[in-house]
Amino acid sequence: MTESRRLAVIIVAAGRGERAGSHKEGPKQYRLVGGKPVLAWTLSRFLSRPACTDIIAVVHEDDKALFEAVTAGIDGGQRIRTVTGGQNRQASVLAGLEALSGEAPDMVLIHDGVRPFVSHQLIDGVVAALEDGDRAALPAVQIADTLKRGDATGIVTDTVPRNGLFGAQTPQGFDYRAILEAHRQAAQDPGTEFTDDCAVAEWAGIPVRLTPGSPLNVKLTTAEDIAMADDRLSNRRAEATVAPALPDVRTGNGYDVHRLVPGDYVTLCGVRIPHDQRLDGHSDADVALHALTDALLATCGAGDIGDHFPPSDPEWRGAASEIFLAHALRIVREAGGVIMNADLSLIAEAPKIGPHRLEMRQNLARILEISLERCSVKATTNETIGFAGRREGIAAIATASVVYGA
Ligand code: MG
Repeated sequence: MTESRRLAVIIVAAGRGERAGSHKEGPKQYRLVGGKPVLAWTLSRFLSRPACTDIIAVVHEDDKALFEAVTAGIDGGQRIRTVTGGQNRQASVLAGLEALSGEAPDMVLIHDGVRPFVSHQLIDGVVAALEDGDRAALPAVQIADTLKRGDATGIVTDTVPRNGLFGAQTPQGFDYRAILEAHRQAAQDPGTEFTDDCAVAEWAGIPVRLTPGSPLNVKLTTAEDIAMADDRLSNRRAEATVAPALPDVRTGNGYDVHRLVPGDYVTLCGVRIPHDQRLDGHSDADVALHALTDALLATCGAGDIGDHFPPSDPEWRGAASEIFLAHALRIVREAGGVIMNADLSLIAEAPKIGPHRLEMRQNLARILEISLERCSVKATTNETIGFAGRREGIAAIATASVVYGA
């Protein structure tokens, strides 16, 4: 491996941007998109490439203060040198190239300040072509639309074959000495005005290598482009704040106790278990399903089971508690929730839960319409102490996780 070749970058940002809507809003490279000036996004793409040692921005003389405000707001901004732009793009690029003559880098990338979406992959493709010996490299995309030529009255005159046609993007990469010489020569020829630097290279007889461009690497030209960029970069900023983007996961808990009285069975998680006691309550007193109903309601701030099914209402006398849980499921779903899991702990000295655990989990899975593995039932005694330990009642603790807005 030879000594690494020095790479400089020229960001062309001297344009007045008259196509991007009201002049009052200023040049489009300084418009705010996603909360930052377009140019701040563009410069950051190159500042974050360690290979880009020298970065020069070509700035309009009226925009110096605007530009300083941009660099003050970005990491590494103090590394960027500025050069005053010329009468047109071609003159501005030449000013940037001349400003690098002291450093005389091996390679130079020339990029439009209003292409903030350029990817590192695209930049690397251009640099790789130069390192492979090409003296000019152009990222480009094949034209997908059918091309038409129109006349001055707005009528199509013919269809232009798009075979072999590409849309030119930037950064365009060059052997520094070759493109400096070509630009100097072009500046001496009053008959030439080029809209990109590869055109200057072609004019000077330098072969230009095509490298992969990207449809995302758009040049912000119109007011619509600025609005699109604002949408895209606002979303990216929202994602970056919580990177990676976090889903709206919520957890709720629930707790319930019912008194044990003489009887012949208890109902837990909808399973009727023979026992020498029963749970006392208005409904079937299924503490497990009551606790889980509260846990689900808690994930969307929907109160508790008593708010939805007042014990004073005779309608719920002896009711199977499954209807409470199904009601909570509906509320969660109406709020945009998807249940991830449900977990229950039962605290009871008796009856034994183990033999009924699978049936209990199956009931939860059926009622909540989720898979069995997402439903958990556990049990513990209370070591004979407290109300549960003295068999005065059974307690249940529930936890539920729900993802909203998925
Ligand atoms: Mg209850």
